[in-house]
Amino acid sequence: MLILTKIAELQRFLKEEAGRRTVGLVPTMGALHEGHISLIQTSRLNCDLTVCTIFVNPTQFNDLADLKRYPRMPEKDASLLADARCDLLFMPDVEEIYPAPVTKAYDFGQLGEILEGKHRPGHFNGVAQIVQRLFEIVSPDYAFFGSKDYQQVMIVRELVRQMNSPVRIIVCPTLREPDGLAMSSRNALLTQEERRLAGRVPEIMGIARTIALADGTGKAKQFVAAQLAADPRFRLDYYEICDADTLEILDGEESDRRMISLIAVFVGKIRLIDNLLLN
Ligand code: AMP
Repeated sequence: MLILTKIAELQRFLKEEAGRRTVGLVPTMGALHEGHISLIQTSRLNCDLTVCTIFVNPTQFNDLADLKRYPRMPEKDASLLADARCDLLFMPDVEEIYPAPVTKAYDFGQLGEILEGKHRPGHFNGVAQIVQRLFEIVSPDYAFFGSKDYQQVMIVRELVRQMNSPVRIIVCPTLREPDGLAMSSRNALLTQEERRLAGRVPEIMGIARTIALADGTGKAKQFVAAQLAADPRFRLDYYEICDADTLEILDGEESDRRMISLIAVFVGKIRLIDNLLLN
């Protein structure tokens, strides 16, 4: 596997080696786990050449402490990617990606204002900045994203629409630990006790799904709030049930629309997100 840090080198390689091949891009922030590797595998199945990027994008962090503590383990990541037979790892530094302060502002309408957009102001603007930048640098045919970051996928699709970008977005399922916890780089930051507790999140979401389908979304929300309030180590940012296609927040009665529940919850200091299709 080739490891590059400079845009010029990457573009020279892609031009020389990959001129007539389909390129798949897997953007990540590193501290890789099996969820990331599943995206690499899907890219390898669909593309001739797979480029993984590792870049902890400062512009998408609204919380400086979160950025500082974000796990970084480039050697281990490179070894995992080489084992997964990724073709190229691109790991630029911040100056390479943003030689000048980046100010571009996007408008994603309601989609950018709710859930993560509401609780992490500026987050999706930063996500759009890095995704647009990486798409311009790599010019991939396909880009692979995880449905664990469900709202992010919808933002990326909207970005592609607004940019008239030819990049095709492929969405991959969420990989989970044996107890159901969605794999996440942030899980490594949990204490053993918090990690055990975090396993309750998918469990509670599963029960809430049954409640939502039987008794309506209001009851499901009450249930989740009450379950999490019972342990002070949890702090709920939001639990919402939305239209799975538009992310419109559904309040009240059951719907015959495709529904998804989305959660953001602190376990200790660590903020975790997850989602579950209801029907
Ligand atoms: P991140 O490094 O957290 O920015 O994630 C990079 C990509 O991996 C994003 O498209 C995520 O949605 C995806 N991803 C993160 N966790 C998982 C998971 N548990 N299963 C599948 N994909 C994931």
